[in-house]
Amino acid sequence: MATERPLPNLWHATAPAAPKTGHLTGEITADVAIVGGGFTGLSAALHLAEMGVKAAVIEAYMIGYGGSGRNVGLVNAGMWVKPDDLIATLGVEAGGRLLNELGDGPSLVYDLVARHGMQCEAVRNGTLHMAVGPEGLKEITEREAQWKKRGAPVEALPADKAHALSGAEGFAGALLDRRAGTIQPLAYARGLARAALAAGAEIFTETPLLAAERKGDLWKLTAGRGSLTARHVIVATNAYGALVDNVPWTAQTQELTILPYFQFATNPLPDKIASRILPERQGAWDTGLVMTSFRMDQQNRLIFGSIGRLDAMAAGTHRAFAARSVRKLFPYIGDFRFEYWWDGRIGMTTTNLPVMHVLAPNVVSISGYNGRGIAPGTVFGRALARYVTGDISAIPLTETPITPDPWRNLKSAFYHAGAQAKHLIDRRF
Ligand SMILES: Cc1cc2nc3c(=O)[nH]c(=O)nc-3n(C[C@H](O)[C@H](O)[C@H](O)COP(=O)(O)OP(=O)(O)OC[C@H]3O[C@@H](n4cnc5c(N)ncnc54)[C@H](O)[C@@H]3O)c2cc1C
Repeated sequence: MATERPLPNLWHATAPAAPKTGHLTGEITADVAIVGGGFTGLSAALHLAEMGVKAAVIEAYMIGYGGSGRNVGLVNAGMWVKPDDLIATLGVEAGGRLLNELGDGPSLVYDLVARHGMQCEAVRNGTLHMAVGPEGLKEITEREAQWKKRGAPVEALPADKAHALSGAEGFAGALLDRRAGTIQPLAYARGLARAALAAGAEIFTETPLLAAERKGDLWKLTAGRGSLTARHVIVATNAYGALVDNVPWTAQTQELTILPYFQFATNPLPDKIASRILPERQGAWDTGLVMTSFRMDQQNRLIFGSIGRLDAMAAGTHRAFAARSVRKLFPYIGDFRFEYWWDGRIGMTTTNLPVMHVLAPNVVSISGYNGRGIAPGTVFGRALARYVTGDISAIPLTETPITPDPWRNLKSAFYHAGAQAKHLIDRRF
C-alpha cells in the first residue's frame, strides 16, 4: 500500500510519543480482529479488552494514520445533519436513539481521557458554529430550536456575543454547544491505543490486511508478514479503506465519497494576540457552503482549515486563501507564518449519516461519519465491541446493504475543484 505524501502535520509534532507497537509476524489468534487503528478500531479494542475479550488490531501504517490523526479536533455532539432531518431519515425511534447516544458522545470521550490520564490537550468549553450572513443565522436558530426541544444545552448567540467569544470579525451570530470541546486528535488516538494495550489488547502497526479466508467459523486474515485468525472481524478502515484483492467485503469503501479537507497552523502567537482569539478556547467552524474552521492549540497556534486537498496544483491557492482569511477574521493578528499544513479524507455518505454493514458472516463495519468522527468513532467502537460479544442491539444504527455510489469519484473531484475555485477568489475584497 502506498502512503500519502508526507506533509508537516502539527499533531505529529506535538502529540506524546505513540506507544511501542510492532508489525505482525507469525501466526496468532484472537477472539476479535480489528482492521484499522483510528478512533473506531481503537475504541473497539479498548472496550473489548476491558471486557476480557482478546482483541488484536492490524493497522496498515501507524496509529492515527487516517482521519483520526489529521482532523480539526472538534469533539462534537451529534451529527452534522440537523436533528429533525436525522429523525426524518431514520424515524423517531432509531433516529432518537442515535441522537441520544451521539449527543452523549463527548461525555464518553472526556470520561475516557480522564479515566486513562490521556495527555491530549482536552478542553471542554463547548464549540461555536459561526453563522455566515442571514442564511447562517437562520440555520443556527433552527439548530438551536431542534436541540433545545431535546434538552441539549445549546445557545444561539447574537453577533456581538459571537464576536466576543470567537474574537473573529464578520459573523452574524454563533451556536454555542456546551456539550462539546476540543482535543489534540492524534494524541487522543495514541491515548486510546495506550489504554487498549494496557487493558490487554494487541496492536500491530505497518500491518496491512492483504487477504482473508474463511476457515470453518473462523476468519484467517493475512496481514503484514503474518496471519491473524479470529471468530469476529471489525472493519474500521472508514475513508482510508481501499479494495483489497480477494477480500470482497472491502468493497464497502465504494460507497464513500471522499471530501478533502486541509489545515494550516501558525507559529505560536504572542499572548496578547492569542488571548483575543477564542479566549475561552472553544473550537469553531462556520455555516458556509465551503466550510471553514478555526481553533487554537495549547501552544497558542491558530489552526485554520477548509475544504480542499493540498496537492501540487491547489496548495498555493489554499495557502493564500488561508492567509487572507486569518487576516480578515483577526485583523489585529499582526505578523504570522504557517509552520504546519496537512490534509485528510472525510468519508461522506449519500444520506450524510453513518452506515452499518454486516459484510460477511461475523464481519461488521461502521463507516461514513461525514466529518464527525471523534465522539461518533469512540461511541461506535464501544458499540461494535458490545455487538460482537453478543449484544446485537448495541449499535444505534440499522444494518443496511452496501450501496456503491457510481458518482463518488465525480462528486469528490467536484468538491476538490469547487473549493479551489472558491478559494481563488474568496476574501480578496
Ligand atoms: C481533515 C479532517 C478534519 C476532521 N475534523 C473533524 C473534527 O473536527 N471533529 C470530528 O469529530 N471529526 C473530524 N473529522 C472526521 C474524523 O477524523 C473521522 O471520522 C475519524 O477519524 C474516523 O475514525 P476511524 O477510526 O473510523 O477511521 P480512520 O481514523 O480513518 O482510521 C482508519 C484506519 O484504517 C487503516 N487501514 C486502511 N486500510 C487498511 C488495511 N487494508 N489494513 C489495515 N489497516 C488499514 C488506515 O491506515 C487508518 O489508520 C475530520 C476528518 C478529517 C480528514
